[in-house]
Amino acid sequence: MSLRPVPAPSVPEATARVARAAFRKSCLAMRIRDELGPLFEDEQFASAFPRRGGPAWSPGQLAMVSVLQFAEGLTDRQAADAVSGRIDVKYMLGLELEDPGFDFSVLSEFRDRLIAHGLEELVLDRLLERVGELGLVRAGGRQRTDSTHVLAQVRTLNRMEFVGETLRAALEMLAVAAPGWLRQVAAPEWFERYGKRIDSFRFPKGAGARRQWALTVGHDGFALLQALYEPHAPGWLRELEAVQVLRNAWVQQYHRDGEGVRWREGKDLPPGRLRLSSPYDTDTRYSIKRGAGWDGYKVHFTETCEPDAPHLITHVVTTDATVPDAQVTEPVHAGLARRGLPPDIHLVDSGYTSAALLVSAARQGIELMGPVFADTTAQGRAGDGLDQDAFSVDWPARAVTCPRGRMSVSWSAQRKASGTEIVRVHFAKTDCDACPVRAACTSAANHKDGRSLTLLNQPQQQALDQRRESACPASPVAGTVCRASGRVISSRALVPSSKAGP
Ligand code: SF4
Repeated sequence: MSLRPVPAPSVPEATARVARAAFRKSCLAMRIRDELGPLFEDEQFASAFPRRGGPAWSPGQLAMVSVLQFAEGLTDRQAADAVSGRIDVKYMLGLELEDPGFDFSVLSEFRDRLIAHGLEELVLDRLLERVGELGLVRAGGRQRTDSTHVLAQVRTLNRMEFVGETLRAALEMLAVAAPGWLRQVAAPEWFERYGKRIDSFRFPKGAGARRQWALTVGHDGFALLQALYEPHAPGWLRELEAVQVLRNAWVQQYHRDGEGVRWREGKDLPPGRLRLSSPYDTDTRYSIKRGAGWDGYKVHFTETCEPDAPHLITHVVTTDATVPDAQVTEPVHAGLARRGLPPDIHLVDSGYTSAALLVSAARQGIELMGPVFADTTAQGRAGDGLDQDAFSVDWPARAVTCPRGRMSVSWSAQRKASGTEIVRVHFAKTDCDACPVRAACTSAANHKDGRSLTLLNQPQQQALDQRRESACPASPVAGTVCRASGRVISSRALVPSSKAGP
């Protein structure tokens, strides 16, 4: 499809007259046109289209349709029907009343084209530019980020279904690509075993029989892969996507030893972020959050959240389902900075915070407001005043004073294998042995050692301490919102740590 850019059309007179008669108080689609104007020009998408071929539907108008589609939660079919049948949408796009619109498949092709040419953020960028011109969004203020599940459009499969369906998908593709070759290598029982979708198959009863079935599938898969990698097999068959998926899946799910095919178990399986979970969507991953498992992705939305202004999405990032929220915090800040929209306060839940992130955000002038992880040490859980917060740290003197007034006797700056800087602090065995609260303070075995503490580096430890010591009395755990007042706890409400050094 080629692009012949045309300027965004004005609203035809007949379309405007009928639309205003139908919606006397206007409506969302008409307000978008009236308030924001024609947001997108075809020329902005020119790099995604070749110069030759049949004319494409206006990408500027498809981008407008995509915005409305998101706002109203429409499927591609519903969005295409809205273009051909809704007068308010014709008004928004500046179409004649008789305009037939487009086939719904045009929308997914448009999205694929944007992704293939790195233009997936263009629509949001242009939208933010326009609302910025109208003064509806600006740098500073408050924004918040949260994530939600995105279900992959594939059925969730258990392991047996997954391996069976993966082998079946490879056989199906080979049957189309090289039927003669497949007839020569396929065992007769494969036609019965993999002739129907695996989810229509009744698995054998009993754990032993099921395990044997899975091993049979593993054996069949290895036999097919071996045939594919024989020197005389056509090399291009190995390049087929379903064959590559089969190969990767078999590496992940099986191994072979002197006794034959083995089913990988427990730690022998790859981590969730690497493990395929569907032969039909190799990017989807399985994850569990708050007890709910899903196959797919996570989308992280950032939006403005000023009480007296419209809430506008300022950043979107999609990851596979296994990526922890904390890995997204810095990319969100970088994305907001690129758009010239860094917030003063960024509200998040505990998944997006860490001591390191509090510090890195502060260096960019952003106050990352969210609960930090709780002190999960035995002393922290006991709550009898001997947790880490009860110790006073004198950073310049490189010393710590315990709740009983004893000074630490060693201070050692170290770096963990992960690269995290820490400080290990010890108290004297003689001090702790003589202490009446020793049993509650330290579990050092056999009274061989005194109490020890592990601190983060100074900026991170102080940021963590400060967040935990929120001055809001109704929110003892510290967090984004005071549970009593419903207000966000700002840095001004946070008291400086009495233990912190200068
Ligand atoms: S056990 Fe040691 S570190 Fe703990 S309060 Fe007593 S003297 Fe201080």
